[in-house]
Amino acid sequence: MDSIYIINDGFDEVTVYLTPEMSVSTTDTKVIVIGAGPAGAGISFFLTKFEIPHVVVDKETFPRDKVCGDACSGKTALVINRANPEWLNEILADGAQFLPSWGIKFVAPNGKHLDIPFSPHRTKETKAPGFTVPRLNLDNFLFSKMPSPYATIYQGATVTGILHTGNGAKVELTHEGAKHEISAPVIVGADGDKSIVRKQFLSENTSPKTYAVGLRAYYEGVAGMHDEHFIELHFLPEMLPGYLWIFPLPGGRANVGVGILSETIREKKINLREQMLAAIRNNPQIAPRFANARLIDKIQGWGLPLAMERQPLSGNNFILCGDAACLIDPFSGEGIGNALYSGMLAAMAIKEAVQANDFSGSFLKTAYDDILYKRLGDELKISATLQRLCKYPWLFNFVVNKASKSASLRNTISCMFSDLDVREQLSKPSFYLKILFNR
Ligand SMILES: Cc1cc2nc3c(=O)[nH]c(=O)nc-3n(C[C@H](O)[C@H](O)[C@H](O)COP(=O)(O)OP(=O)(O)OC[C@H]3O[C@@H](n4cnc5c(N)ncnc54)[C@H](O)[C@@H]3O)c2cc1C
Repeated sequence: MDSIYIINDGFDEVTVYLTPEMSVSTTDTKVIVIGAGPAGAGISFFLTKFEIPHVVVDKETFPRDKVCGDACSGKTALVINRANPEWLNEILADGAQFLPSWGIKFVAPNGKHLDIPFSPHRTKETKAPGFTVPRLNLDNFLFSKMPSPYATIYQGATVTGILHTGNGAKVELTHEGAKHEISAPVIVGADGDKSIVRKQFLSENTSPKTYAVGLRAYYEGVAGMHDEHFIELHFLPEMLPGYLWIFPLPGGRANVGVGILSETIREKKINLREQMLAAIRNNPQIAPRFANARLIDKIQGWGLPLAMERQPLSGNNFILCGDAACLIDPFSGEGIGNALYSGMLAAMAIKEAVQANDFSGSFLKTAYDDILYKRLGDELKISATLQRLCKYPWLFNFVVNKASKSASLRNTISCMFSDLDVREQLSKPSFYLKILFNR
């Protein structure tokens, strides 16, 4: 007969049946989460809050790196704060790993720049709205907060099979030489850009993804950083519609990279690495700042699945979060905040599904997809429009020229970071006409 034992003292929902002759343990739980990056952490934090037992599986062992710009916006801070305000305080107090950021610098193709504070009406009590942190550290921080009596975590595990069983999902994996089979009524794909959950469960997987490609390089000794650690986006003429970023990091380091639409790379046959290094060597705005800088790691690239249009995010017995759901902001390239946020919303949807004992596609669509697009849909639509406007360098030059002479226009652009209605103006022709006629 199979031997039985319980993982997670006192929580009999996670029951393991050991079959010695097969060396396979069989676990029944409420939720299986594949991926323990920001999306996986986001869902796990809130499933724990809702006291829902779950199993998290990641193929990597933490701390692990992730190619990224390392810039975290207010949405990242918001979700962490909601999960546990003490964690955000820890982040803001740990200057060795996390660098608070107070604004953004836009550099137009004509070289003129605009410094935009994130909090235009800041007081002494205002906390930094964003921060930068190497993903090695951020993801390890989030991972370290995940253990709970409700979370069973397998890191360094290999998923060998995922099945849709009709009334749920079954995952087969190997971990530290042992085989495991885990079953649950719902599975969450938080496994990033190359999601195996998306591939297995979303039959519309063929729906076209809009991709950007990004390169990341770590430097030290880059000169001319802003005193308040503004992140910098440089819309260099040679890189449009893509851009080069310089994001300050703790310890005098910087995350430097480039991002551009994949279709542009294909069309123009761009060698992105060469283009980035050429800008660093030769661009009159950039090169002097790198005169004494040193590349401290190899240059690495990765894809960014962009949220250009609404896509299905769930179906019978599954939900997708973060990059697996293609939720990267098409204009800013921000994906960490949306990954955490979608994880939080997925946990809320699953709480409802558990209460209703309904894990059908129609239930999850109402509880998750519709809520997510209600909260993030407008923002993503505006960003998709702004992304398309990047094709027009003259428009950038025009706005930055005008804003450098007008405090009220700078204030309007500054407010767009906290106010969606203001941001929406940017995607309307009337906004540019008003600037043109100084109204
Ligand atoms: C070059 C570049 C620059 C970027 N810059 C920024 C930025 O500055 N700010 C920002 O907010 N966003 C940025 N992004 C986007 C951001 O990196 C992603 O949106 C974010 O990492 C998504 O989080 P996630 O949890 O969905 O996926 P991931 O962070 O990719 O995590 C997925 C996890 O799933 C695990 N996994 C994958 N496959 C499997 C499997 N088969 N089995 C088990 N586990 C698996 C992985 O090991 C990983 O831990 C950038 C992206 C790129 C490529």
